[in-house]
Amino acid sequence: MTVRTTPSAPRTSLDLPVSALPGVGAESAKLLERLEIRTIGDLLWHLPARYIDYSTFRPLRALRADEEQSAIAILGAISQRRTARGQQLTEAQLLDEDGAPTGVTASWFGRQFIKERVREGQRVRISGKVGWFGRTLQFRQPKIEPADAQAVHTGRMVPVYRLTEGLKEGNLRRWLHTAVEGGPRRTPVVRELADALPSDVRERRELLPLPEAMAEVHFPSSEGRLFAARRRLAFDELLVLQLALGQRRAHWKKDAKALPLRADDRRLDAWIRALPFTLTADQERAFAEIRADIAKAVPMARLLQGEVGSGKTVVAALAMRIAVESGAQASLMAPTELLAEQHATSLRRLLPDAEVGLLTSSTPAAERRRILDELASGRLGIVVGTHALVEERVAFERLALAIVDEQHRFGVRQRTTLREKGIDPHLLLTTATPIPQTLWQTVYRDLDVSAIRELPRGRQEIRTEVRTSAALPKVWPWLRERVAAGEQAFVVCPRIDPGEDPDAPDVPSAVAVERELRTGPLAGLRVALLHGRMPAKERDDVMRRFAAGEIDVLVATTVIEVGIDVPNATVMVVLGAERFGLAQLHQLRGRVGRGEKRAFAVLVSEAAGESERLAAMTERTPDGAPLDGFALAQRDLEIRGPGEFLGERQSGVPELRIVDLADLDPRLLADVTAEADRILATDTDLERPEHALLAEAVRALWRRTALA
Ligand code: ADP
Ligand code: MG
Repeated sequence: MTVRTTPSAPRTSLDLPVSALPGVGAESAKLLERLEIRTIGDLLWHLPARYIDYSTFRPLRALRADEEQSAIAILGAISQRRTARGQQLTEAQLLDEDGAPTGVTASWFGRQFIKERVREGQRVRISGKVGWFGRTLQFRQPKIEPADAQAVHTGRMVPVYRLTEGLKEGNLRRWLHTAVEGGPRRTPVVRELADALPSDVRERRELLPLPEAMAEVHFPSSEGRLFAARRRLAFDELLVLQLALGQRRAHWKKDAKALPLRADDRRLDAWIRALPFTLTADQERAFAEIRADIAKAVPMARLLQGEVGSGKTVVAALAMRIAVESGAQASLMAPTELLAEQHATSLRRLLPDAEVGLLTSSTPAAERRRILDELASGRLGIVVGTHALVEERVAFERLALAIVDEQHRFGVRQRTTLREKGIDPHLLLTTATPIPQTLWQTVYRDLDVSAIRELPRGRQEIRTEVRTSAALPKVWPWLRERVAAGEQAFVVCPRIDPGEDPDAPDVPSAVAVERELRTGPLAGLRVALLHGRMPAKERDDVMRRFAAGEIDVLVATTVIEVGIDVPNATVMVVLGAERFGLAQLHQLRGRVGRGEKRAFAVLVSEAAGESERLAAMTERTPDGAPLDGFALAQRDLEIRGPGEFLGERQSGVPELRIVDLADLDPRLLADVTAEADRILATDTDLERPEHALLAEAVRALWRRTALA
């Protein structure tokens, strides 16, 4: 855990500019700056992205398939040709060190320069992934260099760093080597790293001292030591995160006073019986958890997650009913006007005896005044609205329960906003983006979580197909048939504008696709465009017309992702599907099939057939069911990492530099959690001297996430 101070008064060599390190000139310092490396300390925290194990060279004849390996070889014939798909292919025969042919080859796509770098008969070091090619083994896209080149420290595990253009790998490695190992008459600066971890924690968890861990992470002396070193750094990172979130949660719970909201069982049973359907077991459990929370004077901070269509609204509605019963007020905030309107309608249906106000920017002035009055006087119990609810000067008489629909990413900030208004309501955030368990045990740890997994009975499966764009000439006429049958369709594109990214001109854009479809394959249908850069009013208008059946086909970006309900929409075509996360595709797919009619999703991608990720969208569990949102989210986390779930930086979720949330050792997490709880139990504000550096690291973390 870096403890950064302003470099004006250097306390240690770590605060010195990188150029203070032998071998780093002004030119290099500039390059390093691009990697945000300014001080020697920054340099130390530029951790290897991976390692190459050059400590073992394998004889060519002993290579194994599907492993990263290194070998020394003599280069045989090198050939170049174009493949059927037009790619430049370079292939080299690899010979034994004594020059005997082995059948092993190396191949590179699109790296014409390889032929200029090495020559036939040269002794080379080659390193990379080996796979079968017909009946022989082949290095694919390997790294290759003359065996007599000294750039790489052979005979050990070699760190590989993230670079920037112009920065040479060998140089960066040498500088780090100096920082870690020192030089003639120089003690290594790594020894100056301040260890923030209290020594009792370090001993209890058998962790390496920080300087030692840092040295091993850069230049591991063995796999085992590297593992121990990474574990130590990961421990620190997780601990600071857990402390930060734990502290936030503790403060939220300690300083805040909420109104206890209760309703007796008999009345509650009557409301539940009056619902137009029976609750699923998951809905009942989630509701019981919420009910227990809001009965306390400690404000609830809970995330309700559940598949699209799993029925989160009714659970929220019952909680709101309890608030009203307790003589308090409840609000439900939705991300769009249309959704707010839909919620108001459902709440009126679900809670026929409660008055529900709707407050959006379209609310007529007189009505608006009435609602504001009644909220201020406490006559109105439930209000549904958009952002306007927290952002404007809406005064509540007794707001006791605030629900934020489909916006887990912004929950933190809204909580702060409510807080600033002097209100400590119970807070319920709902989301249809399932958050894998490791994430809510870490980055969402300041929230309690309820999950609805089971869908209401009778919900039909959405027939999903993954196709390449070659199938589109058949998709569009079929889509016309669906429209002719009175149904509606979404066509979703990964981007708004064709000119958005000149490097990837082939990515479908909503603007171009809408134009093409309207004038081409879907001519004559009522096609409309919807994207996030349109003014909110216009967007709402388009959505409203689509919901009213005045538009047949909506070409859109993911703005339609949020919980909109158009039961007549039965077709979802997603173009450039590989650009979306699985959880997101699942969400999109959930936009159709909300009614009685059979629904379809067509995921179009040039990677169809090759993409393991997209295949998950049609995969089935052993008992024949499609993967649900939770399973898809977990899969996505494993394949693509946590970015998708964490959203942007500003979302208030700190980024992690060492810990891979997609691949987190549950034992490490348990150890860290126990230590964080132990520390906070006796020193919530981290005021003890032995926690001073931890406190500083926590502050630095909040600064980095811009949420101080
Ligand atoms: P989401 O979790 O996506 O917000 P909603 O709350 O909008 O889902 O519910 C989707 C639909 O399912 C609504 O029309 C709702 O009335 C219906 N529904 C909710 N719970 C049940 C249930 N237990 N049985 C049958 N239908 C239900
Ligand atoms: Mg919803």
